[in-house]
Amino acid sequence: MVKTIGIITPGGDAPGMNAAIRAVVRSAIFHGRKVIGIERGWEGLIRGEIFEMDLKSVGGIINHGGTILKTKRCPDFKKKAFRKVAISNLRRSGIDGLIVIGGDGSMRAASLLSKESGIPVIHLPASIDNDIPYTDDTIGFDTAVNTALDAIDKIRDTASSHERVFVVEVMGREAGHLALEVGLTAGAEAIMIPEVKNSVKSVCKKLRDGISRGKKSSIVVLAEGAGRAHDVAALIKKELKLNVRVSVLGYIQRGGSPTADSRKMASCFGEKAVELLLKGHQSKMIGIMSNKVAATDIQKVFRGKKKINMGDYRLADKLSI
Ligand code: ADP
Repeated sequence: MVKTIGIITPGGDAPGMNAAIRAVVRSAIFHGRKVIGIERGWEGLIRGEIFEMDLKSVGGIINHGGTILKTKRCPDFKKKAFRKVAISNLRRSGIDGLIVIGGDGSMRAASLLSKESGIPVIHLPASIDNDIPYTDDTIGFDTAVNTALDAIDKIRDTASSHERVFVVEVMGREAGHLALEVGLTAGAEAIMIPEVKNSVKSVCKKLRDGISRGKKSSIVVLAEGAGRAHDVAALIKKELKLNVRVSVLGYIQRGGSPTADSRKMASCFGEKAVELLLKGHQSKMIGIMSNKVAATDIQKVFRGKKKINMGDYRLADKLSI
């Protein structure tokens, strides 16, 4: 029976992580368990940067972006010798169950740690990219979508006043989930994502058709994994002989107060993670599938690949003629 739960955020931060930390700490204490916070990711664990968390330590954080546990990339964690130190620090502090909040990299590390130590690990997917399979959504995705949407709505004002084309680059790493959701909800004239090979020529044709029907502004939402905004803008400018402006949204998409959706998901995932540890589960990722919280074996998650929602892509394409 798990008595002491460790909690760690070892990868890129995402809004809603604090709400997840709060949910884990409060649920664990509710069940009479001890919670140890590990600061600065795997590097902090190796260095023994740990502290006991109480109810108060997670007060007033549900509305804050980032992670109160801090994070630090730790390339050394790919080496077994460093993981050995981490495992001995887990054992020394009495941690007999670990909850990891983060993306794919954090989950790979967590899985190795669990295999090598036998300590059960539950992973909560948190990523603004929403690129993790076996969950429809990740903690932070909705907030990032809304942040980018807000920025594009503002860009649209200037684009229509000056009758310009804007190429807006959004994050998402190698995946187009963020760009697709943002493009659909912003009413972008074109969406460029790595999963769909649409040429700049076809994008230009769409823009030209719109302009000939009297469109005053055009927004192209580009996923960072599908090219660089300045390159795409230069090609569009050459083809259409129009003023094309660029906006790379960058890190603002990672920050900010989490939306209701991100907070609720984080709260449900955090509570479920504690429940699974107490029930004796070993190596699971929590997710949400068809509006139900579900747990999937981490090894199975690694074998999967999240598909882009082509229905959404076609919808956006149809509505933006
Ligand atoms: P994210 O969790 O956001 O995907 P990273 O990919 O940076 O973030 O992973 C977080 C940390 O997990 C890395 O700094 C590294 O310490 C560890 N990690 C990532 N991938 C692996 C791996 N394949 N094996 C062992 N540790 C890994």
